[in-house]
Amino acid sequence: MSISKNLIQIKSILPEHVTLVAVSKTKPVNDLMEAYNAGQRIFGENKIQEMADKYDTMPKDIAWHMIGHVQRNKVKYMAPFVDLIHGVDNFKLLEEINKQAQKHDRVIDCLLQIKIASEDSKFGLSPIEASEILQSEAFSALKNIRITGVMGMATFTDNETQIETEFKLLKSTFDNLKDIHTDNTAFTTISMGMSGDYKLAIQCGSTMVRVGSSIFGLRNY
Ligand SMILES: *Cc1c(COP(=O)(O)O)cnc(C)c1O
Repeated sequence: MSISKNLIQIKSILPEHVTLVAVSKTKPVNDLMEAYNAGQRIFGENKIQEMADKYDTMPKDIAWHMIGHVQRNKVKYMAPFVDLIHGVDNFKLLEEINKQAQKHDRVIDCLLQIKIASEDSKFGLSPIEASEILQSEAFSALKNIRITGVMGMATFTDNETQIETEFKLLKSTFDNLKDIHTDNTAFTTISMGMSGDYKLAIQCGSTMVRVGSSIFGLRNY
């Protein structure tokens, strides 16, 4: 199957309230352009330098999402253009994003990454840590960032019951955080689901899926 056919097929089964992020990490610009020409405008990358290089060469009506783990010293390279940062897992990172956003006179949208998987290798805040951030005075002083929801990655396993339990944890965490977040009108996004589990994620309340290999094919690292 071609990239454009894969994309059209996936879009045809997504409910209207679910946003598709085409995860294009490691893929060449030609592949991204094929998706672009089929109508895709949101791309997800997990390395800041690679995303910045693609941003430079591609059309400017693309929304670039950073879906990977973010190192604080690299935030400056994406601050001028990034549309949404999915993987915010500590307060110091939020402060740095705020500082760099201010330099460009922007407000940068961010998701709090919640650790829902049982694997130690996955990053993320506990639900309690996330609520503490949203209720802190230090957070309310950050005027150049906006928290628009949560992101999570399920455990890498074939056990669907476990994945479902983890997705439901992210959904309930989102509901709780929305209740305590004072400025929650834009708090609308639950980023969960990848190629192998996005249908289950949507059943569990996902509003944004991050799909790579089902669109672009397997990645060669
Ligand atoms: C690579 C990646 C994806 C996409 O994975 P696929 O299985 O190829 O769909 C989604 N989310 C994150 C955070 C990723 O790093």
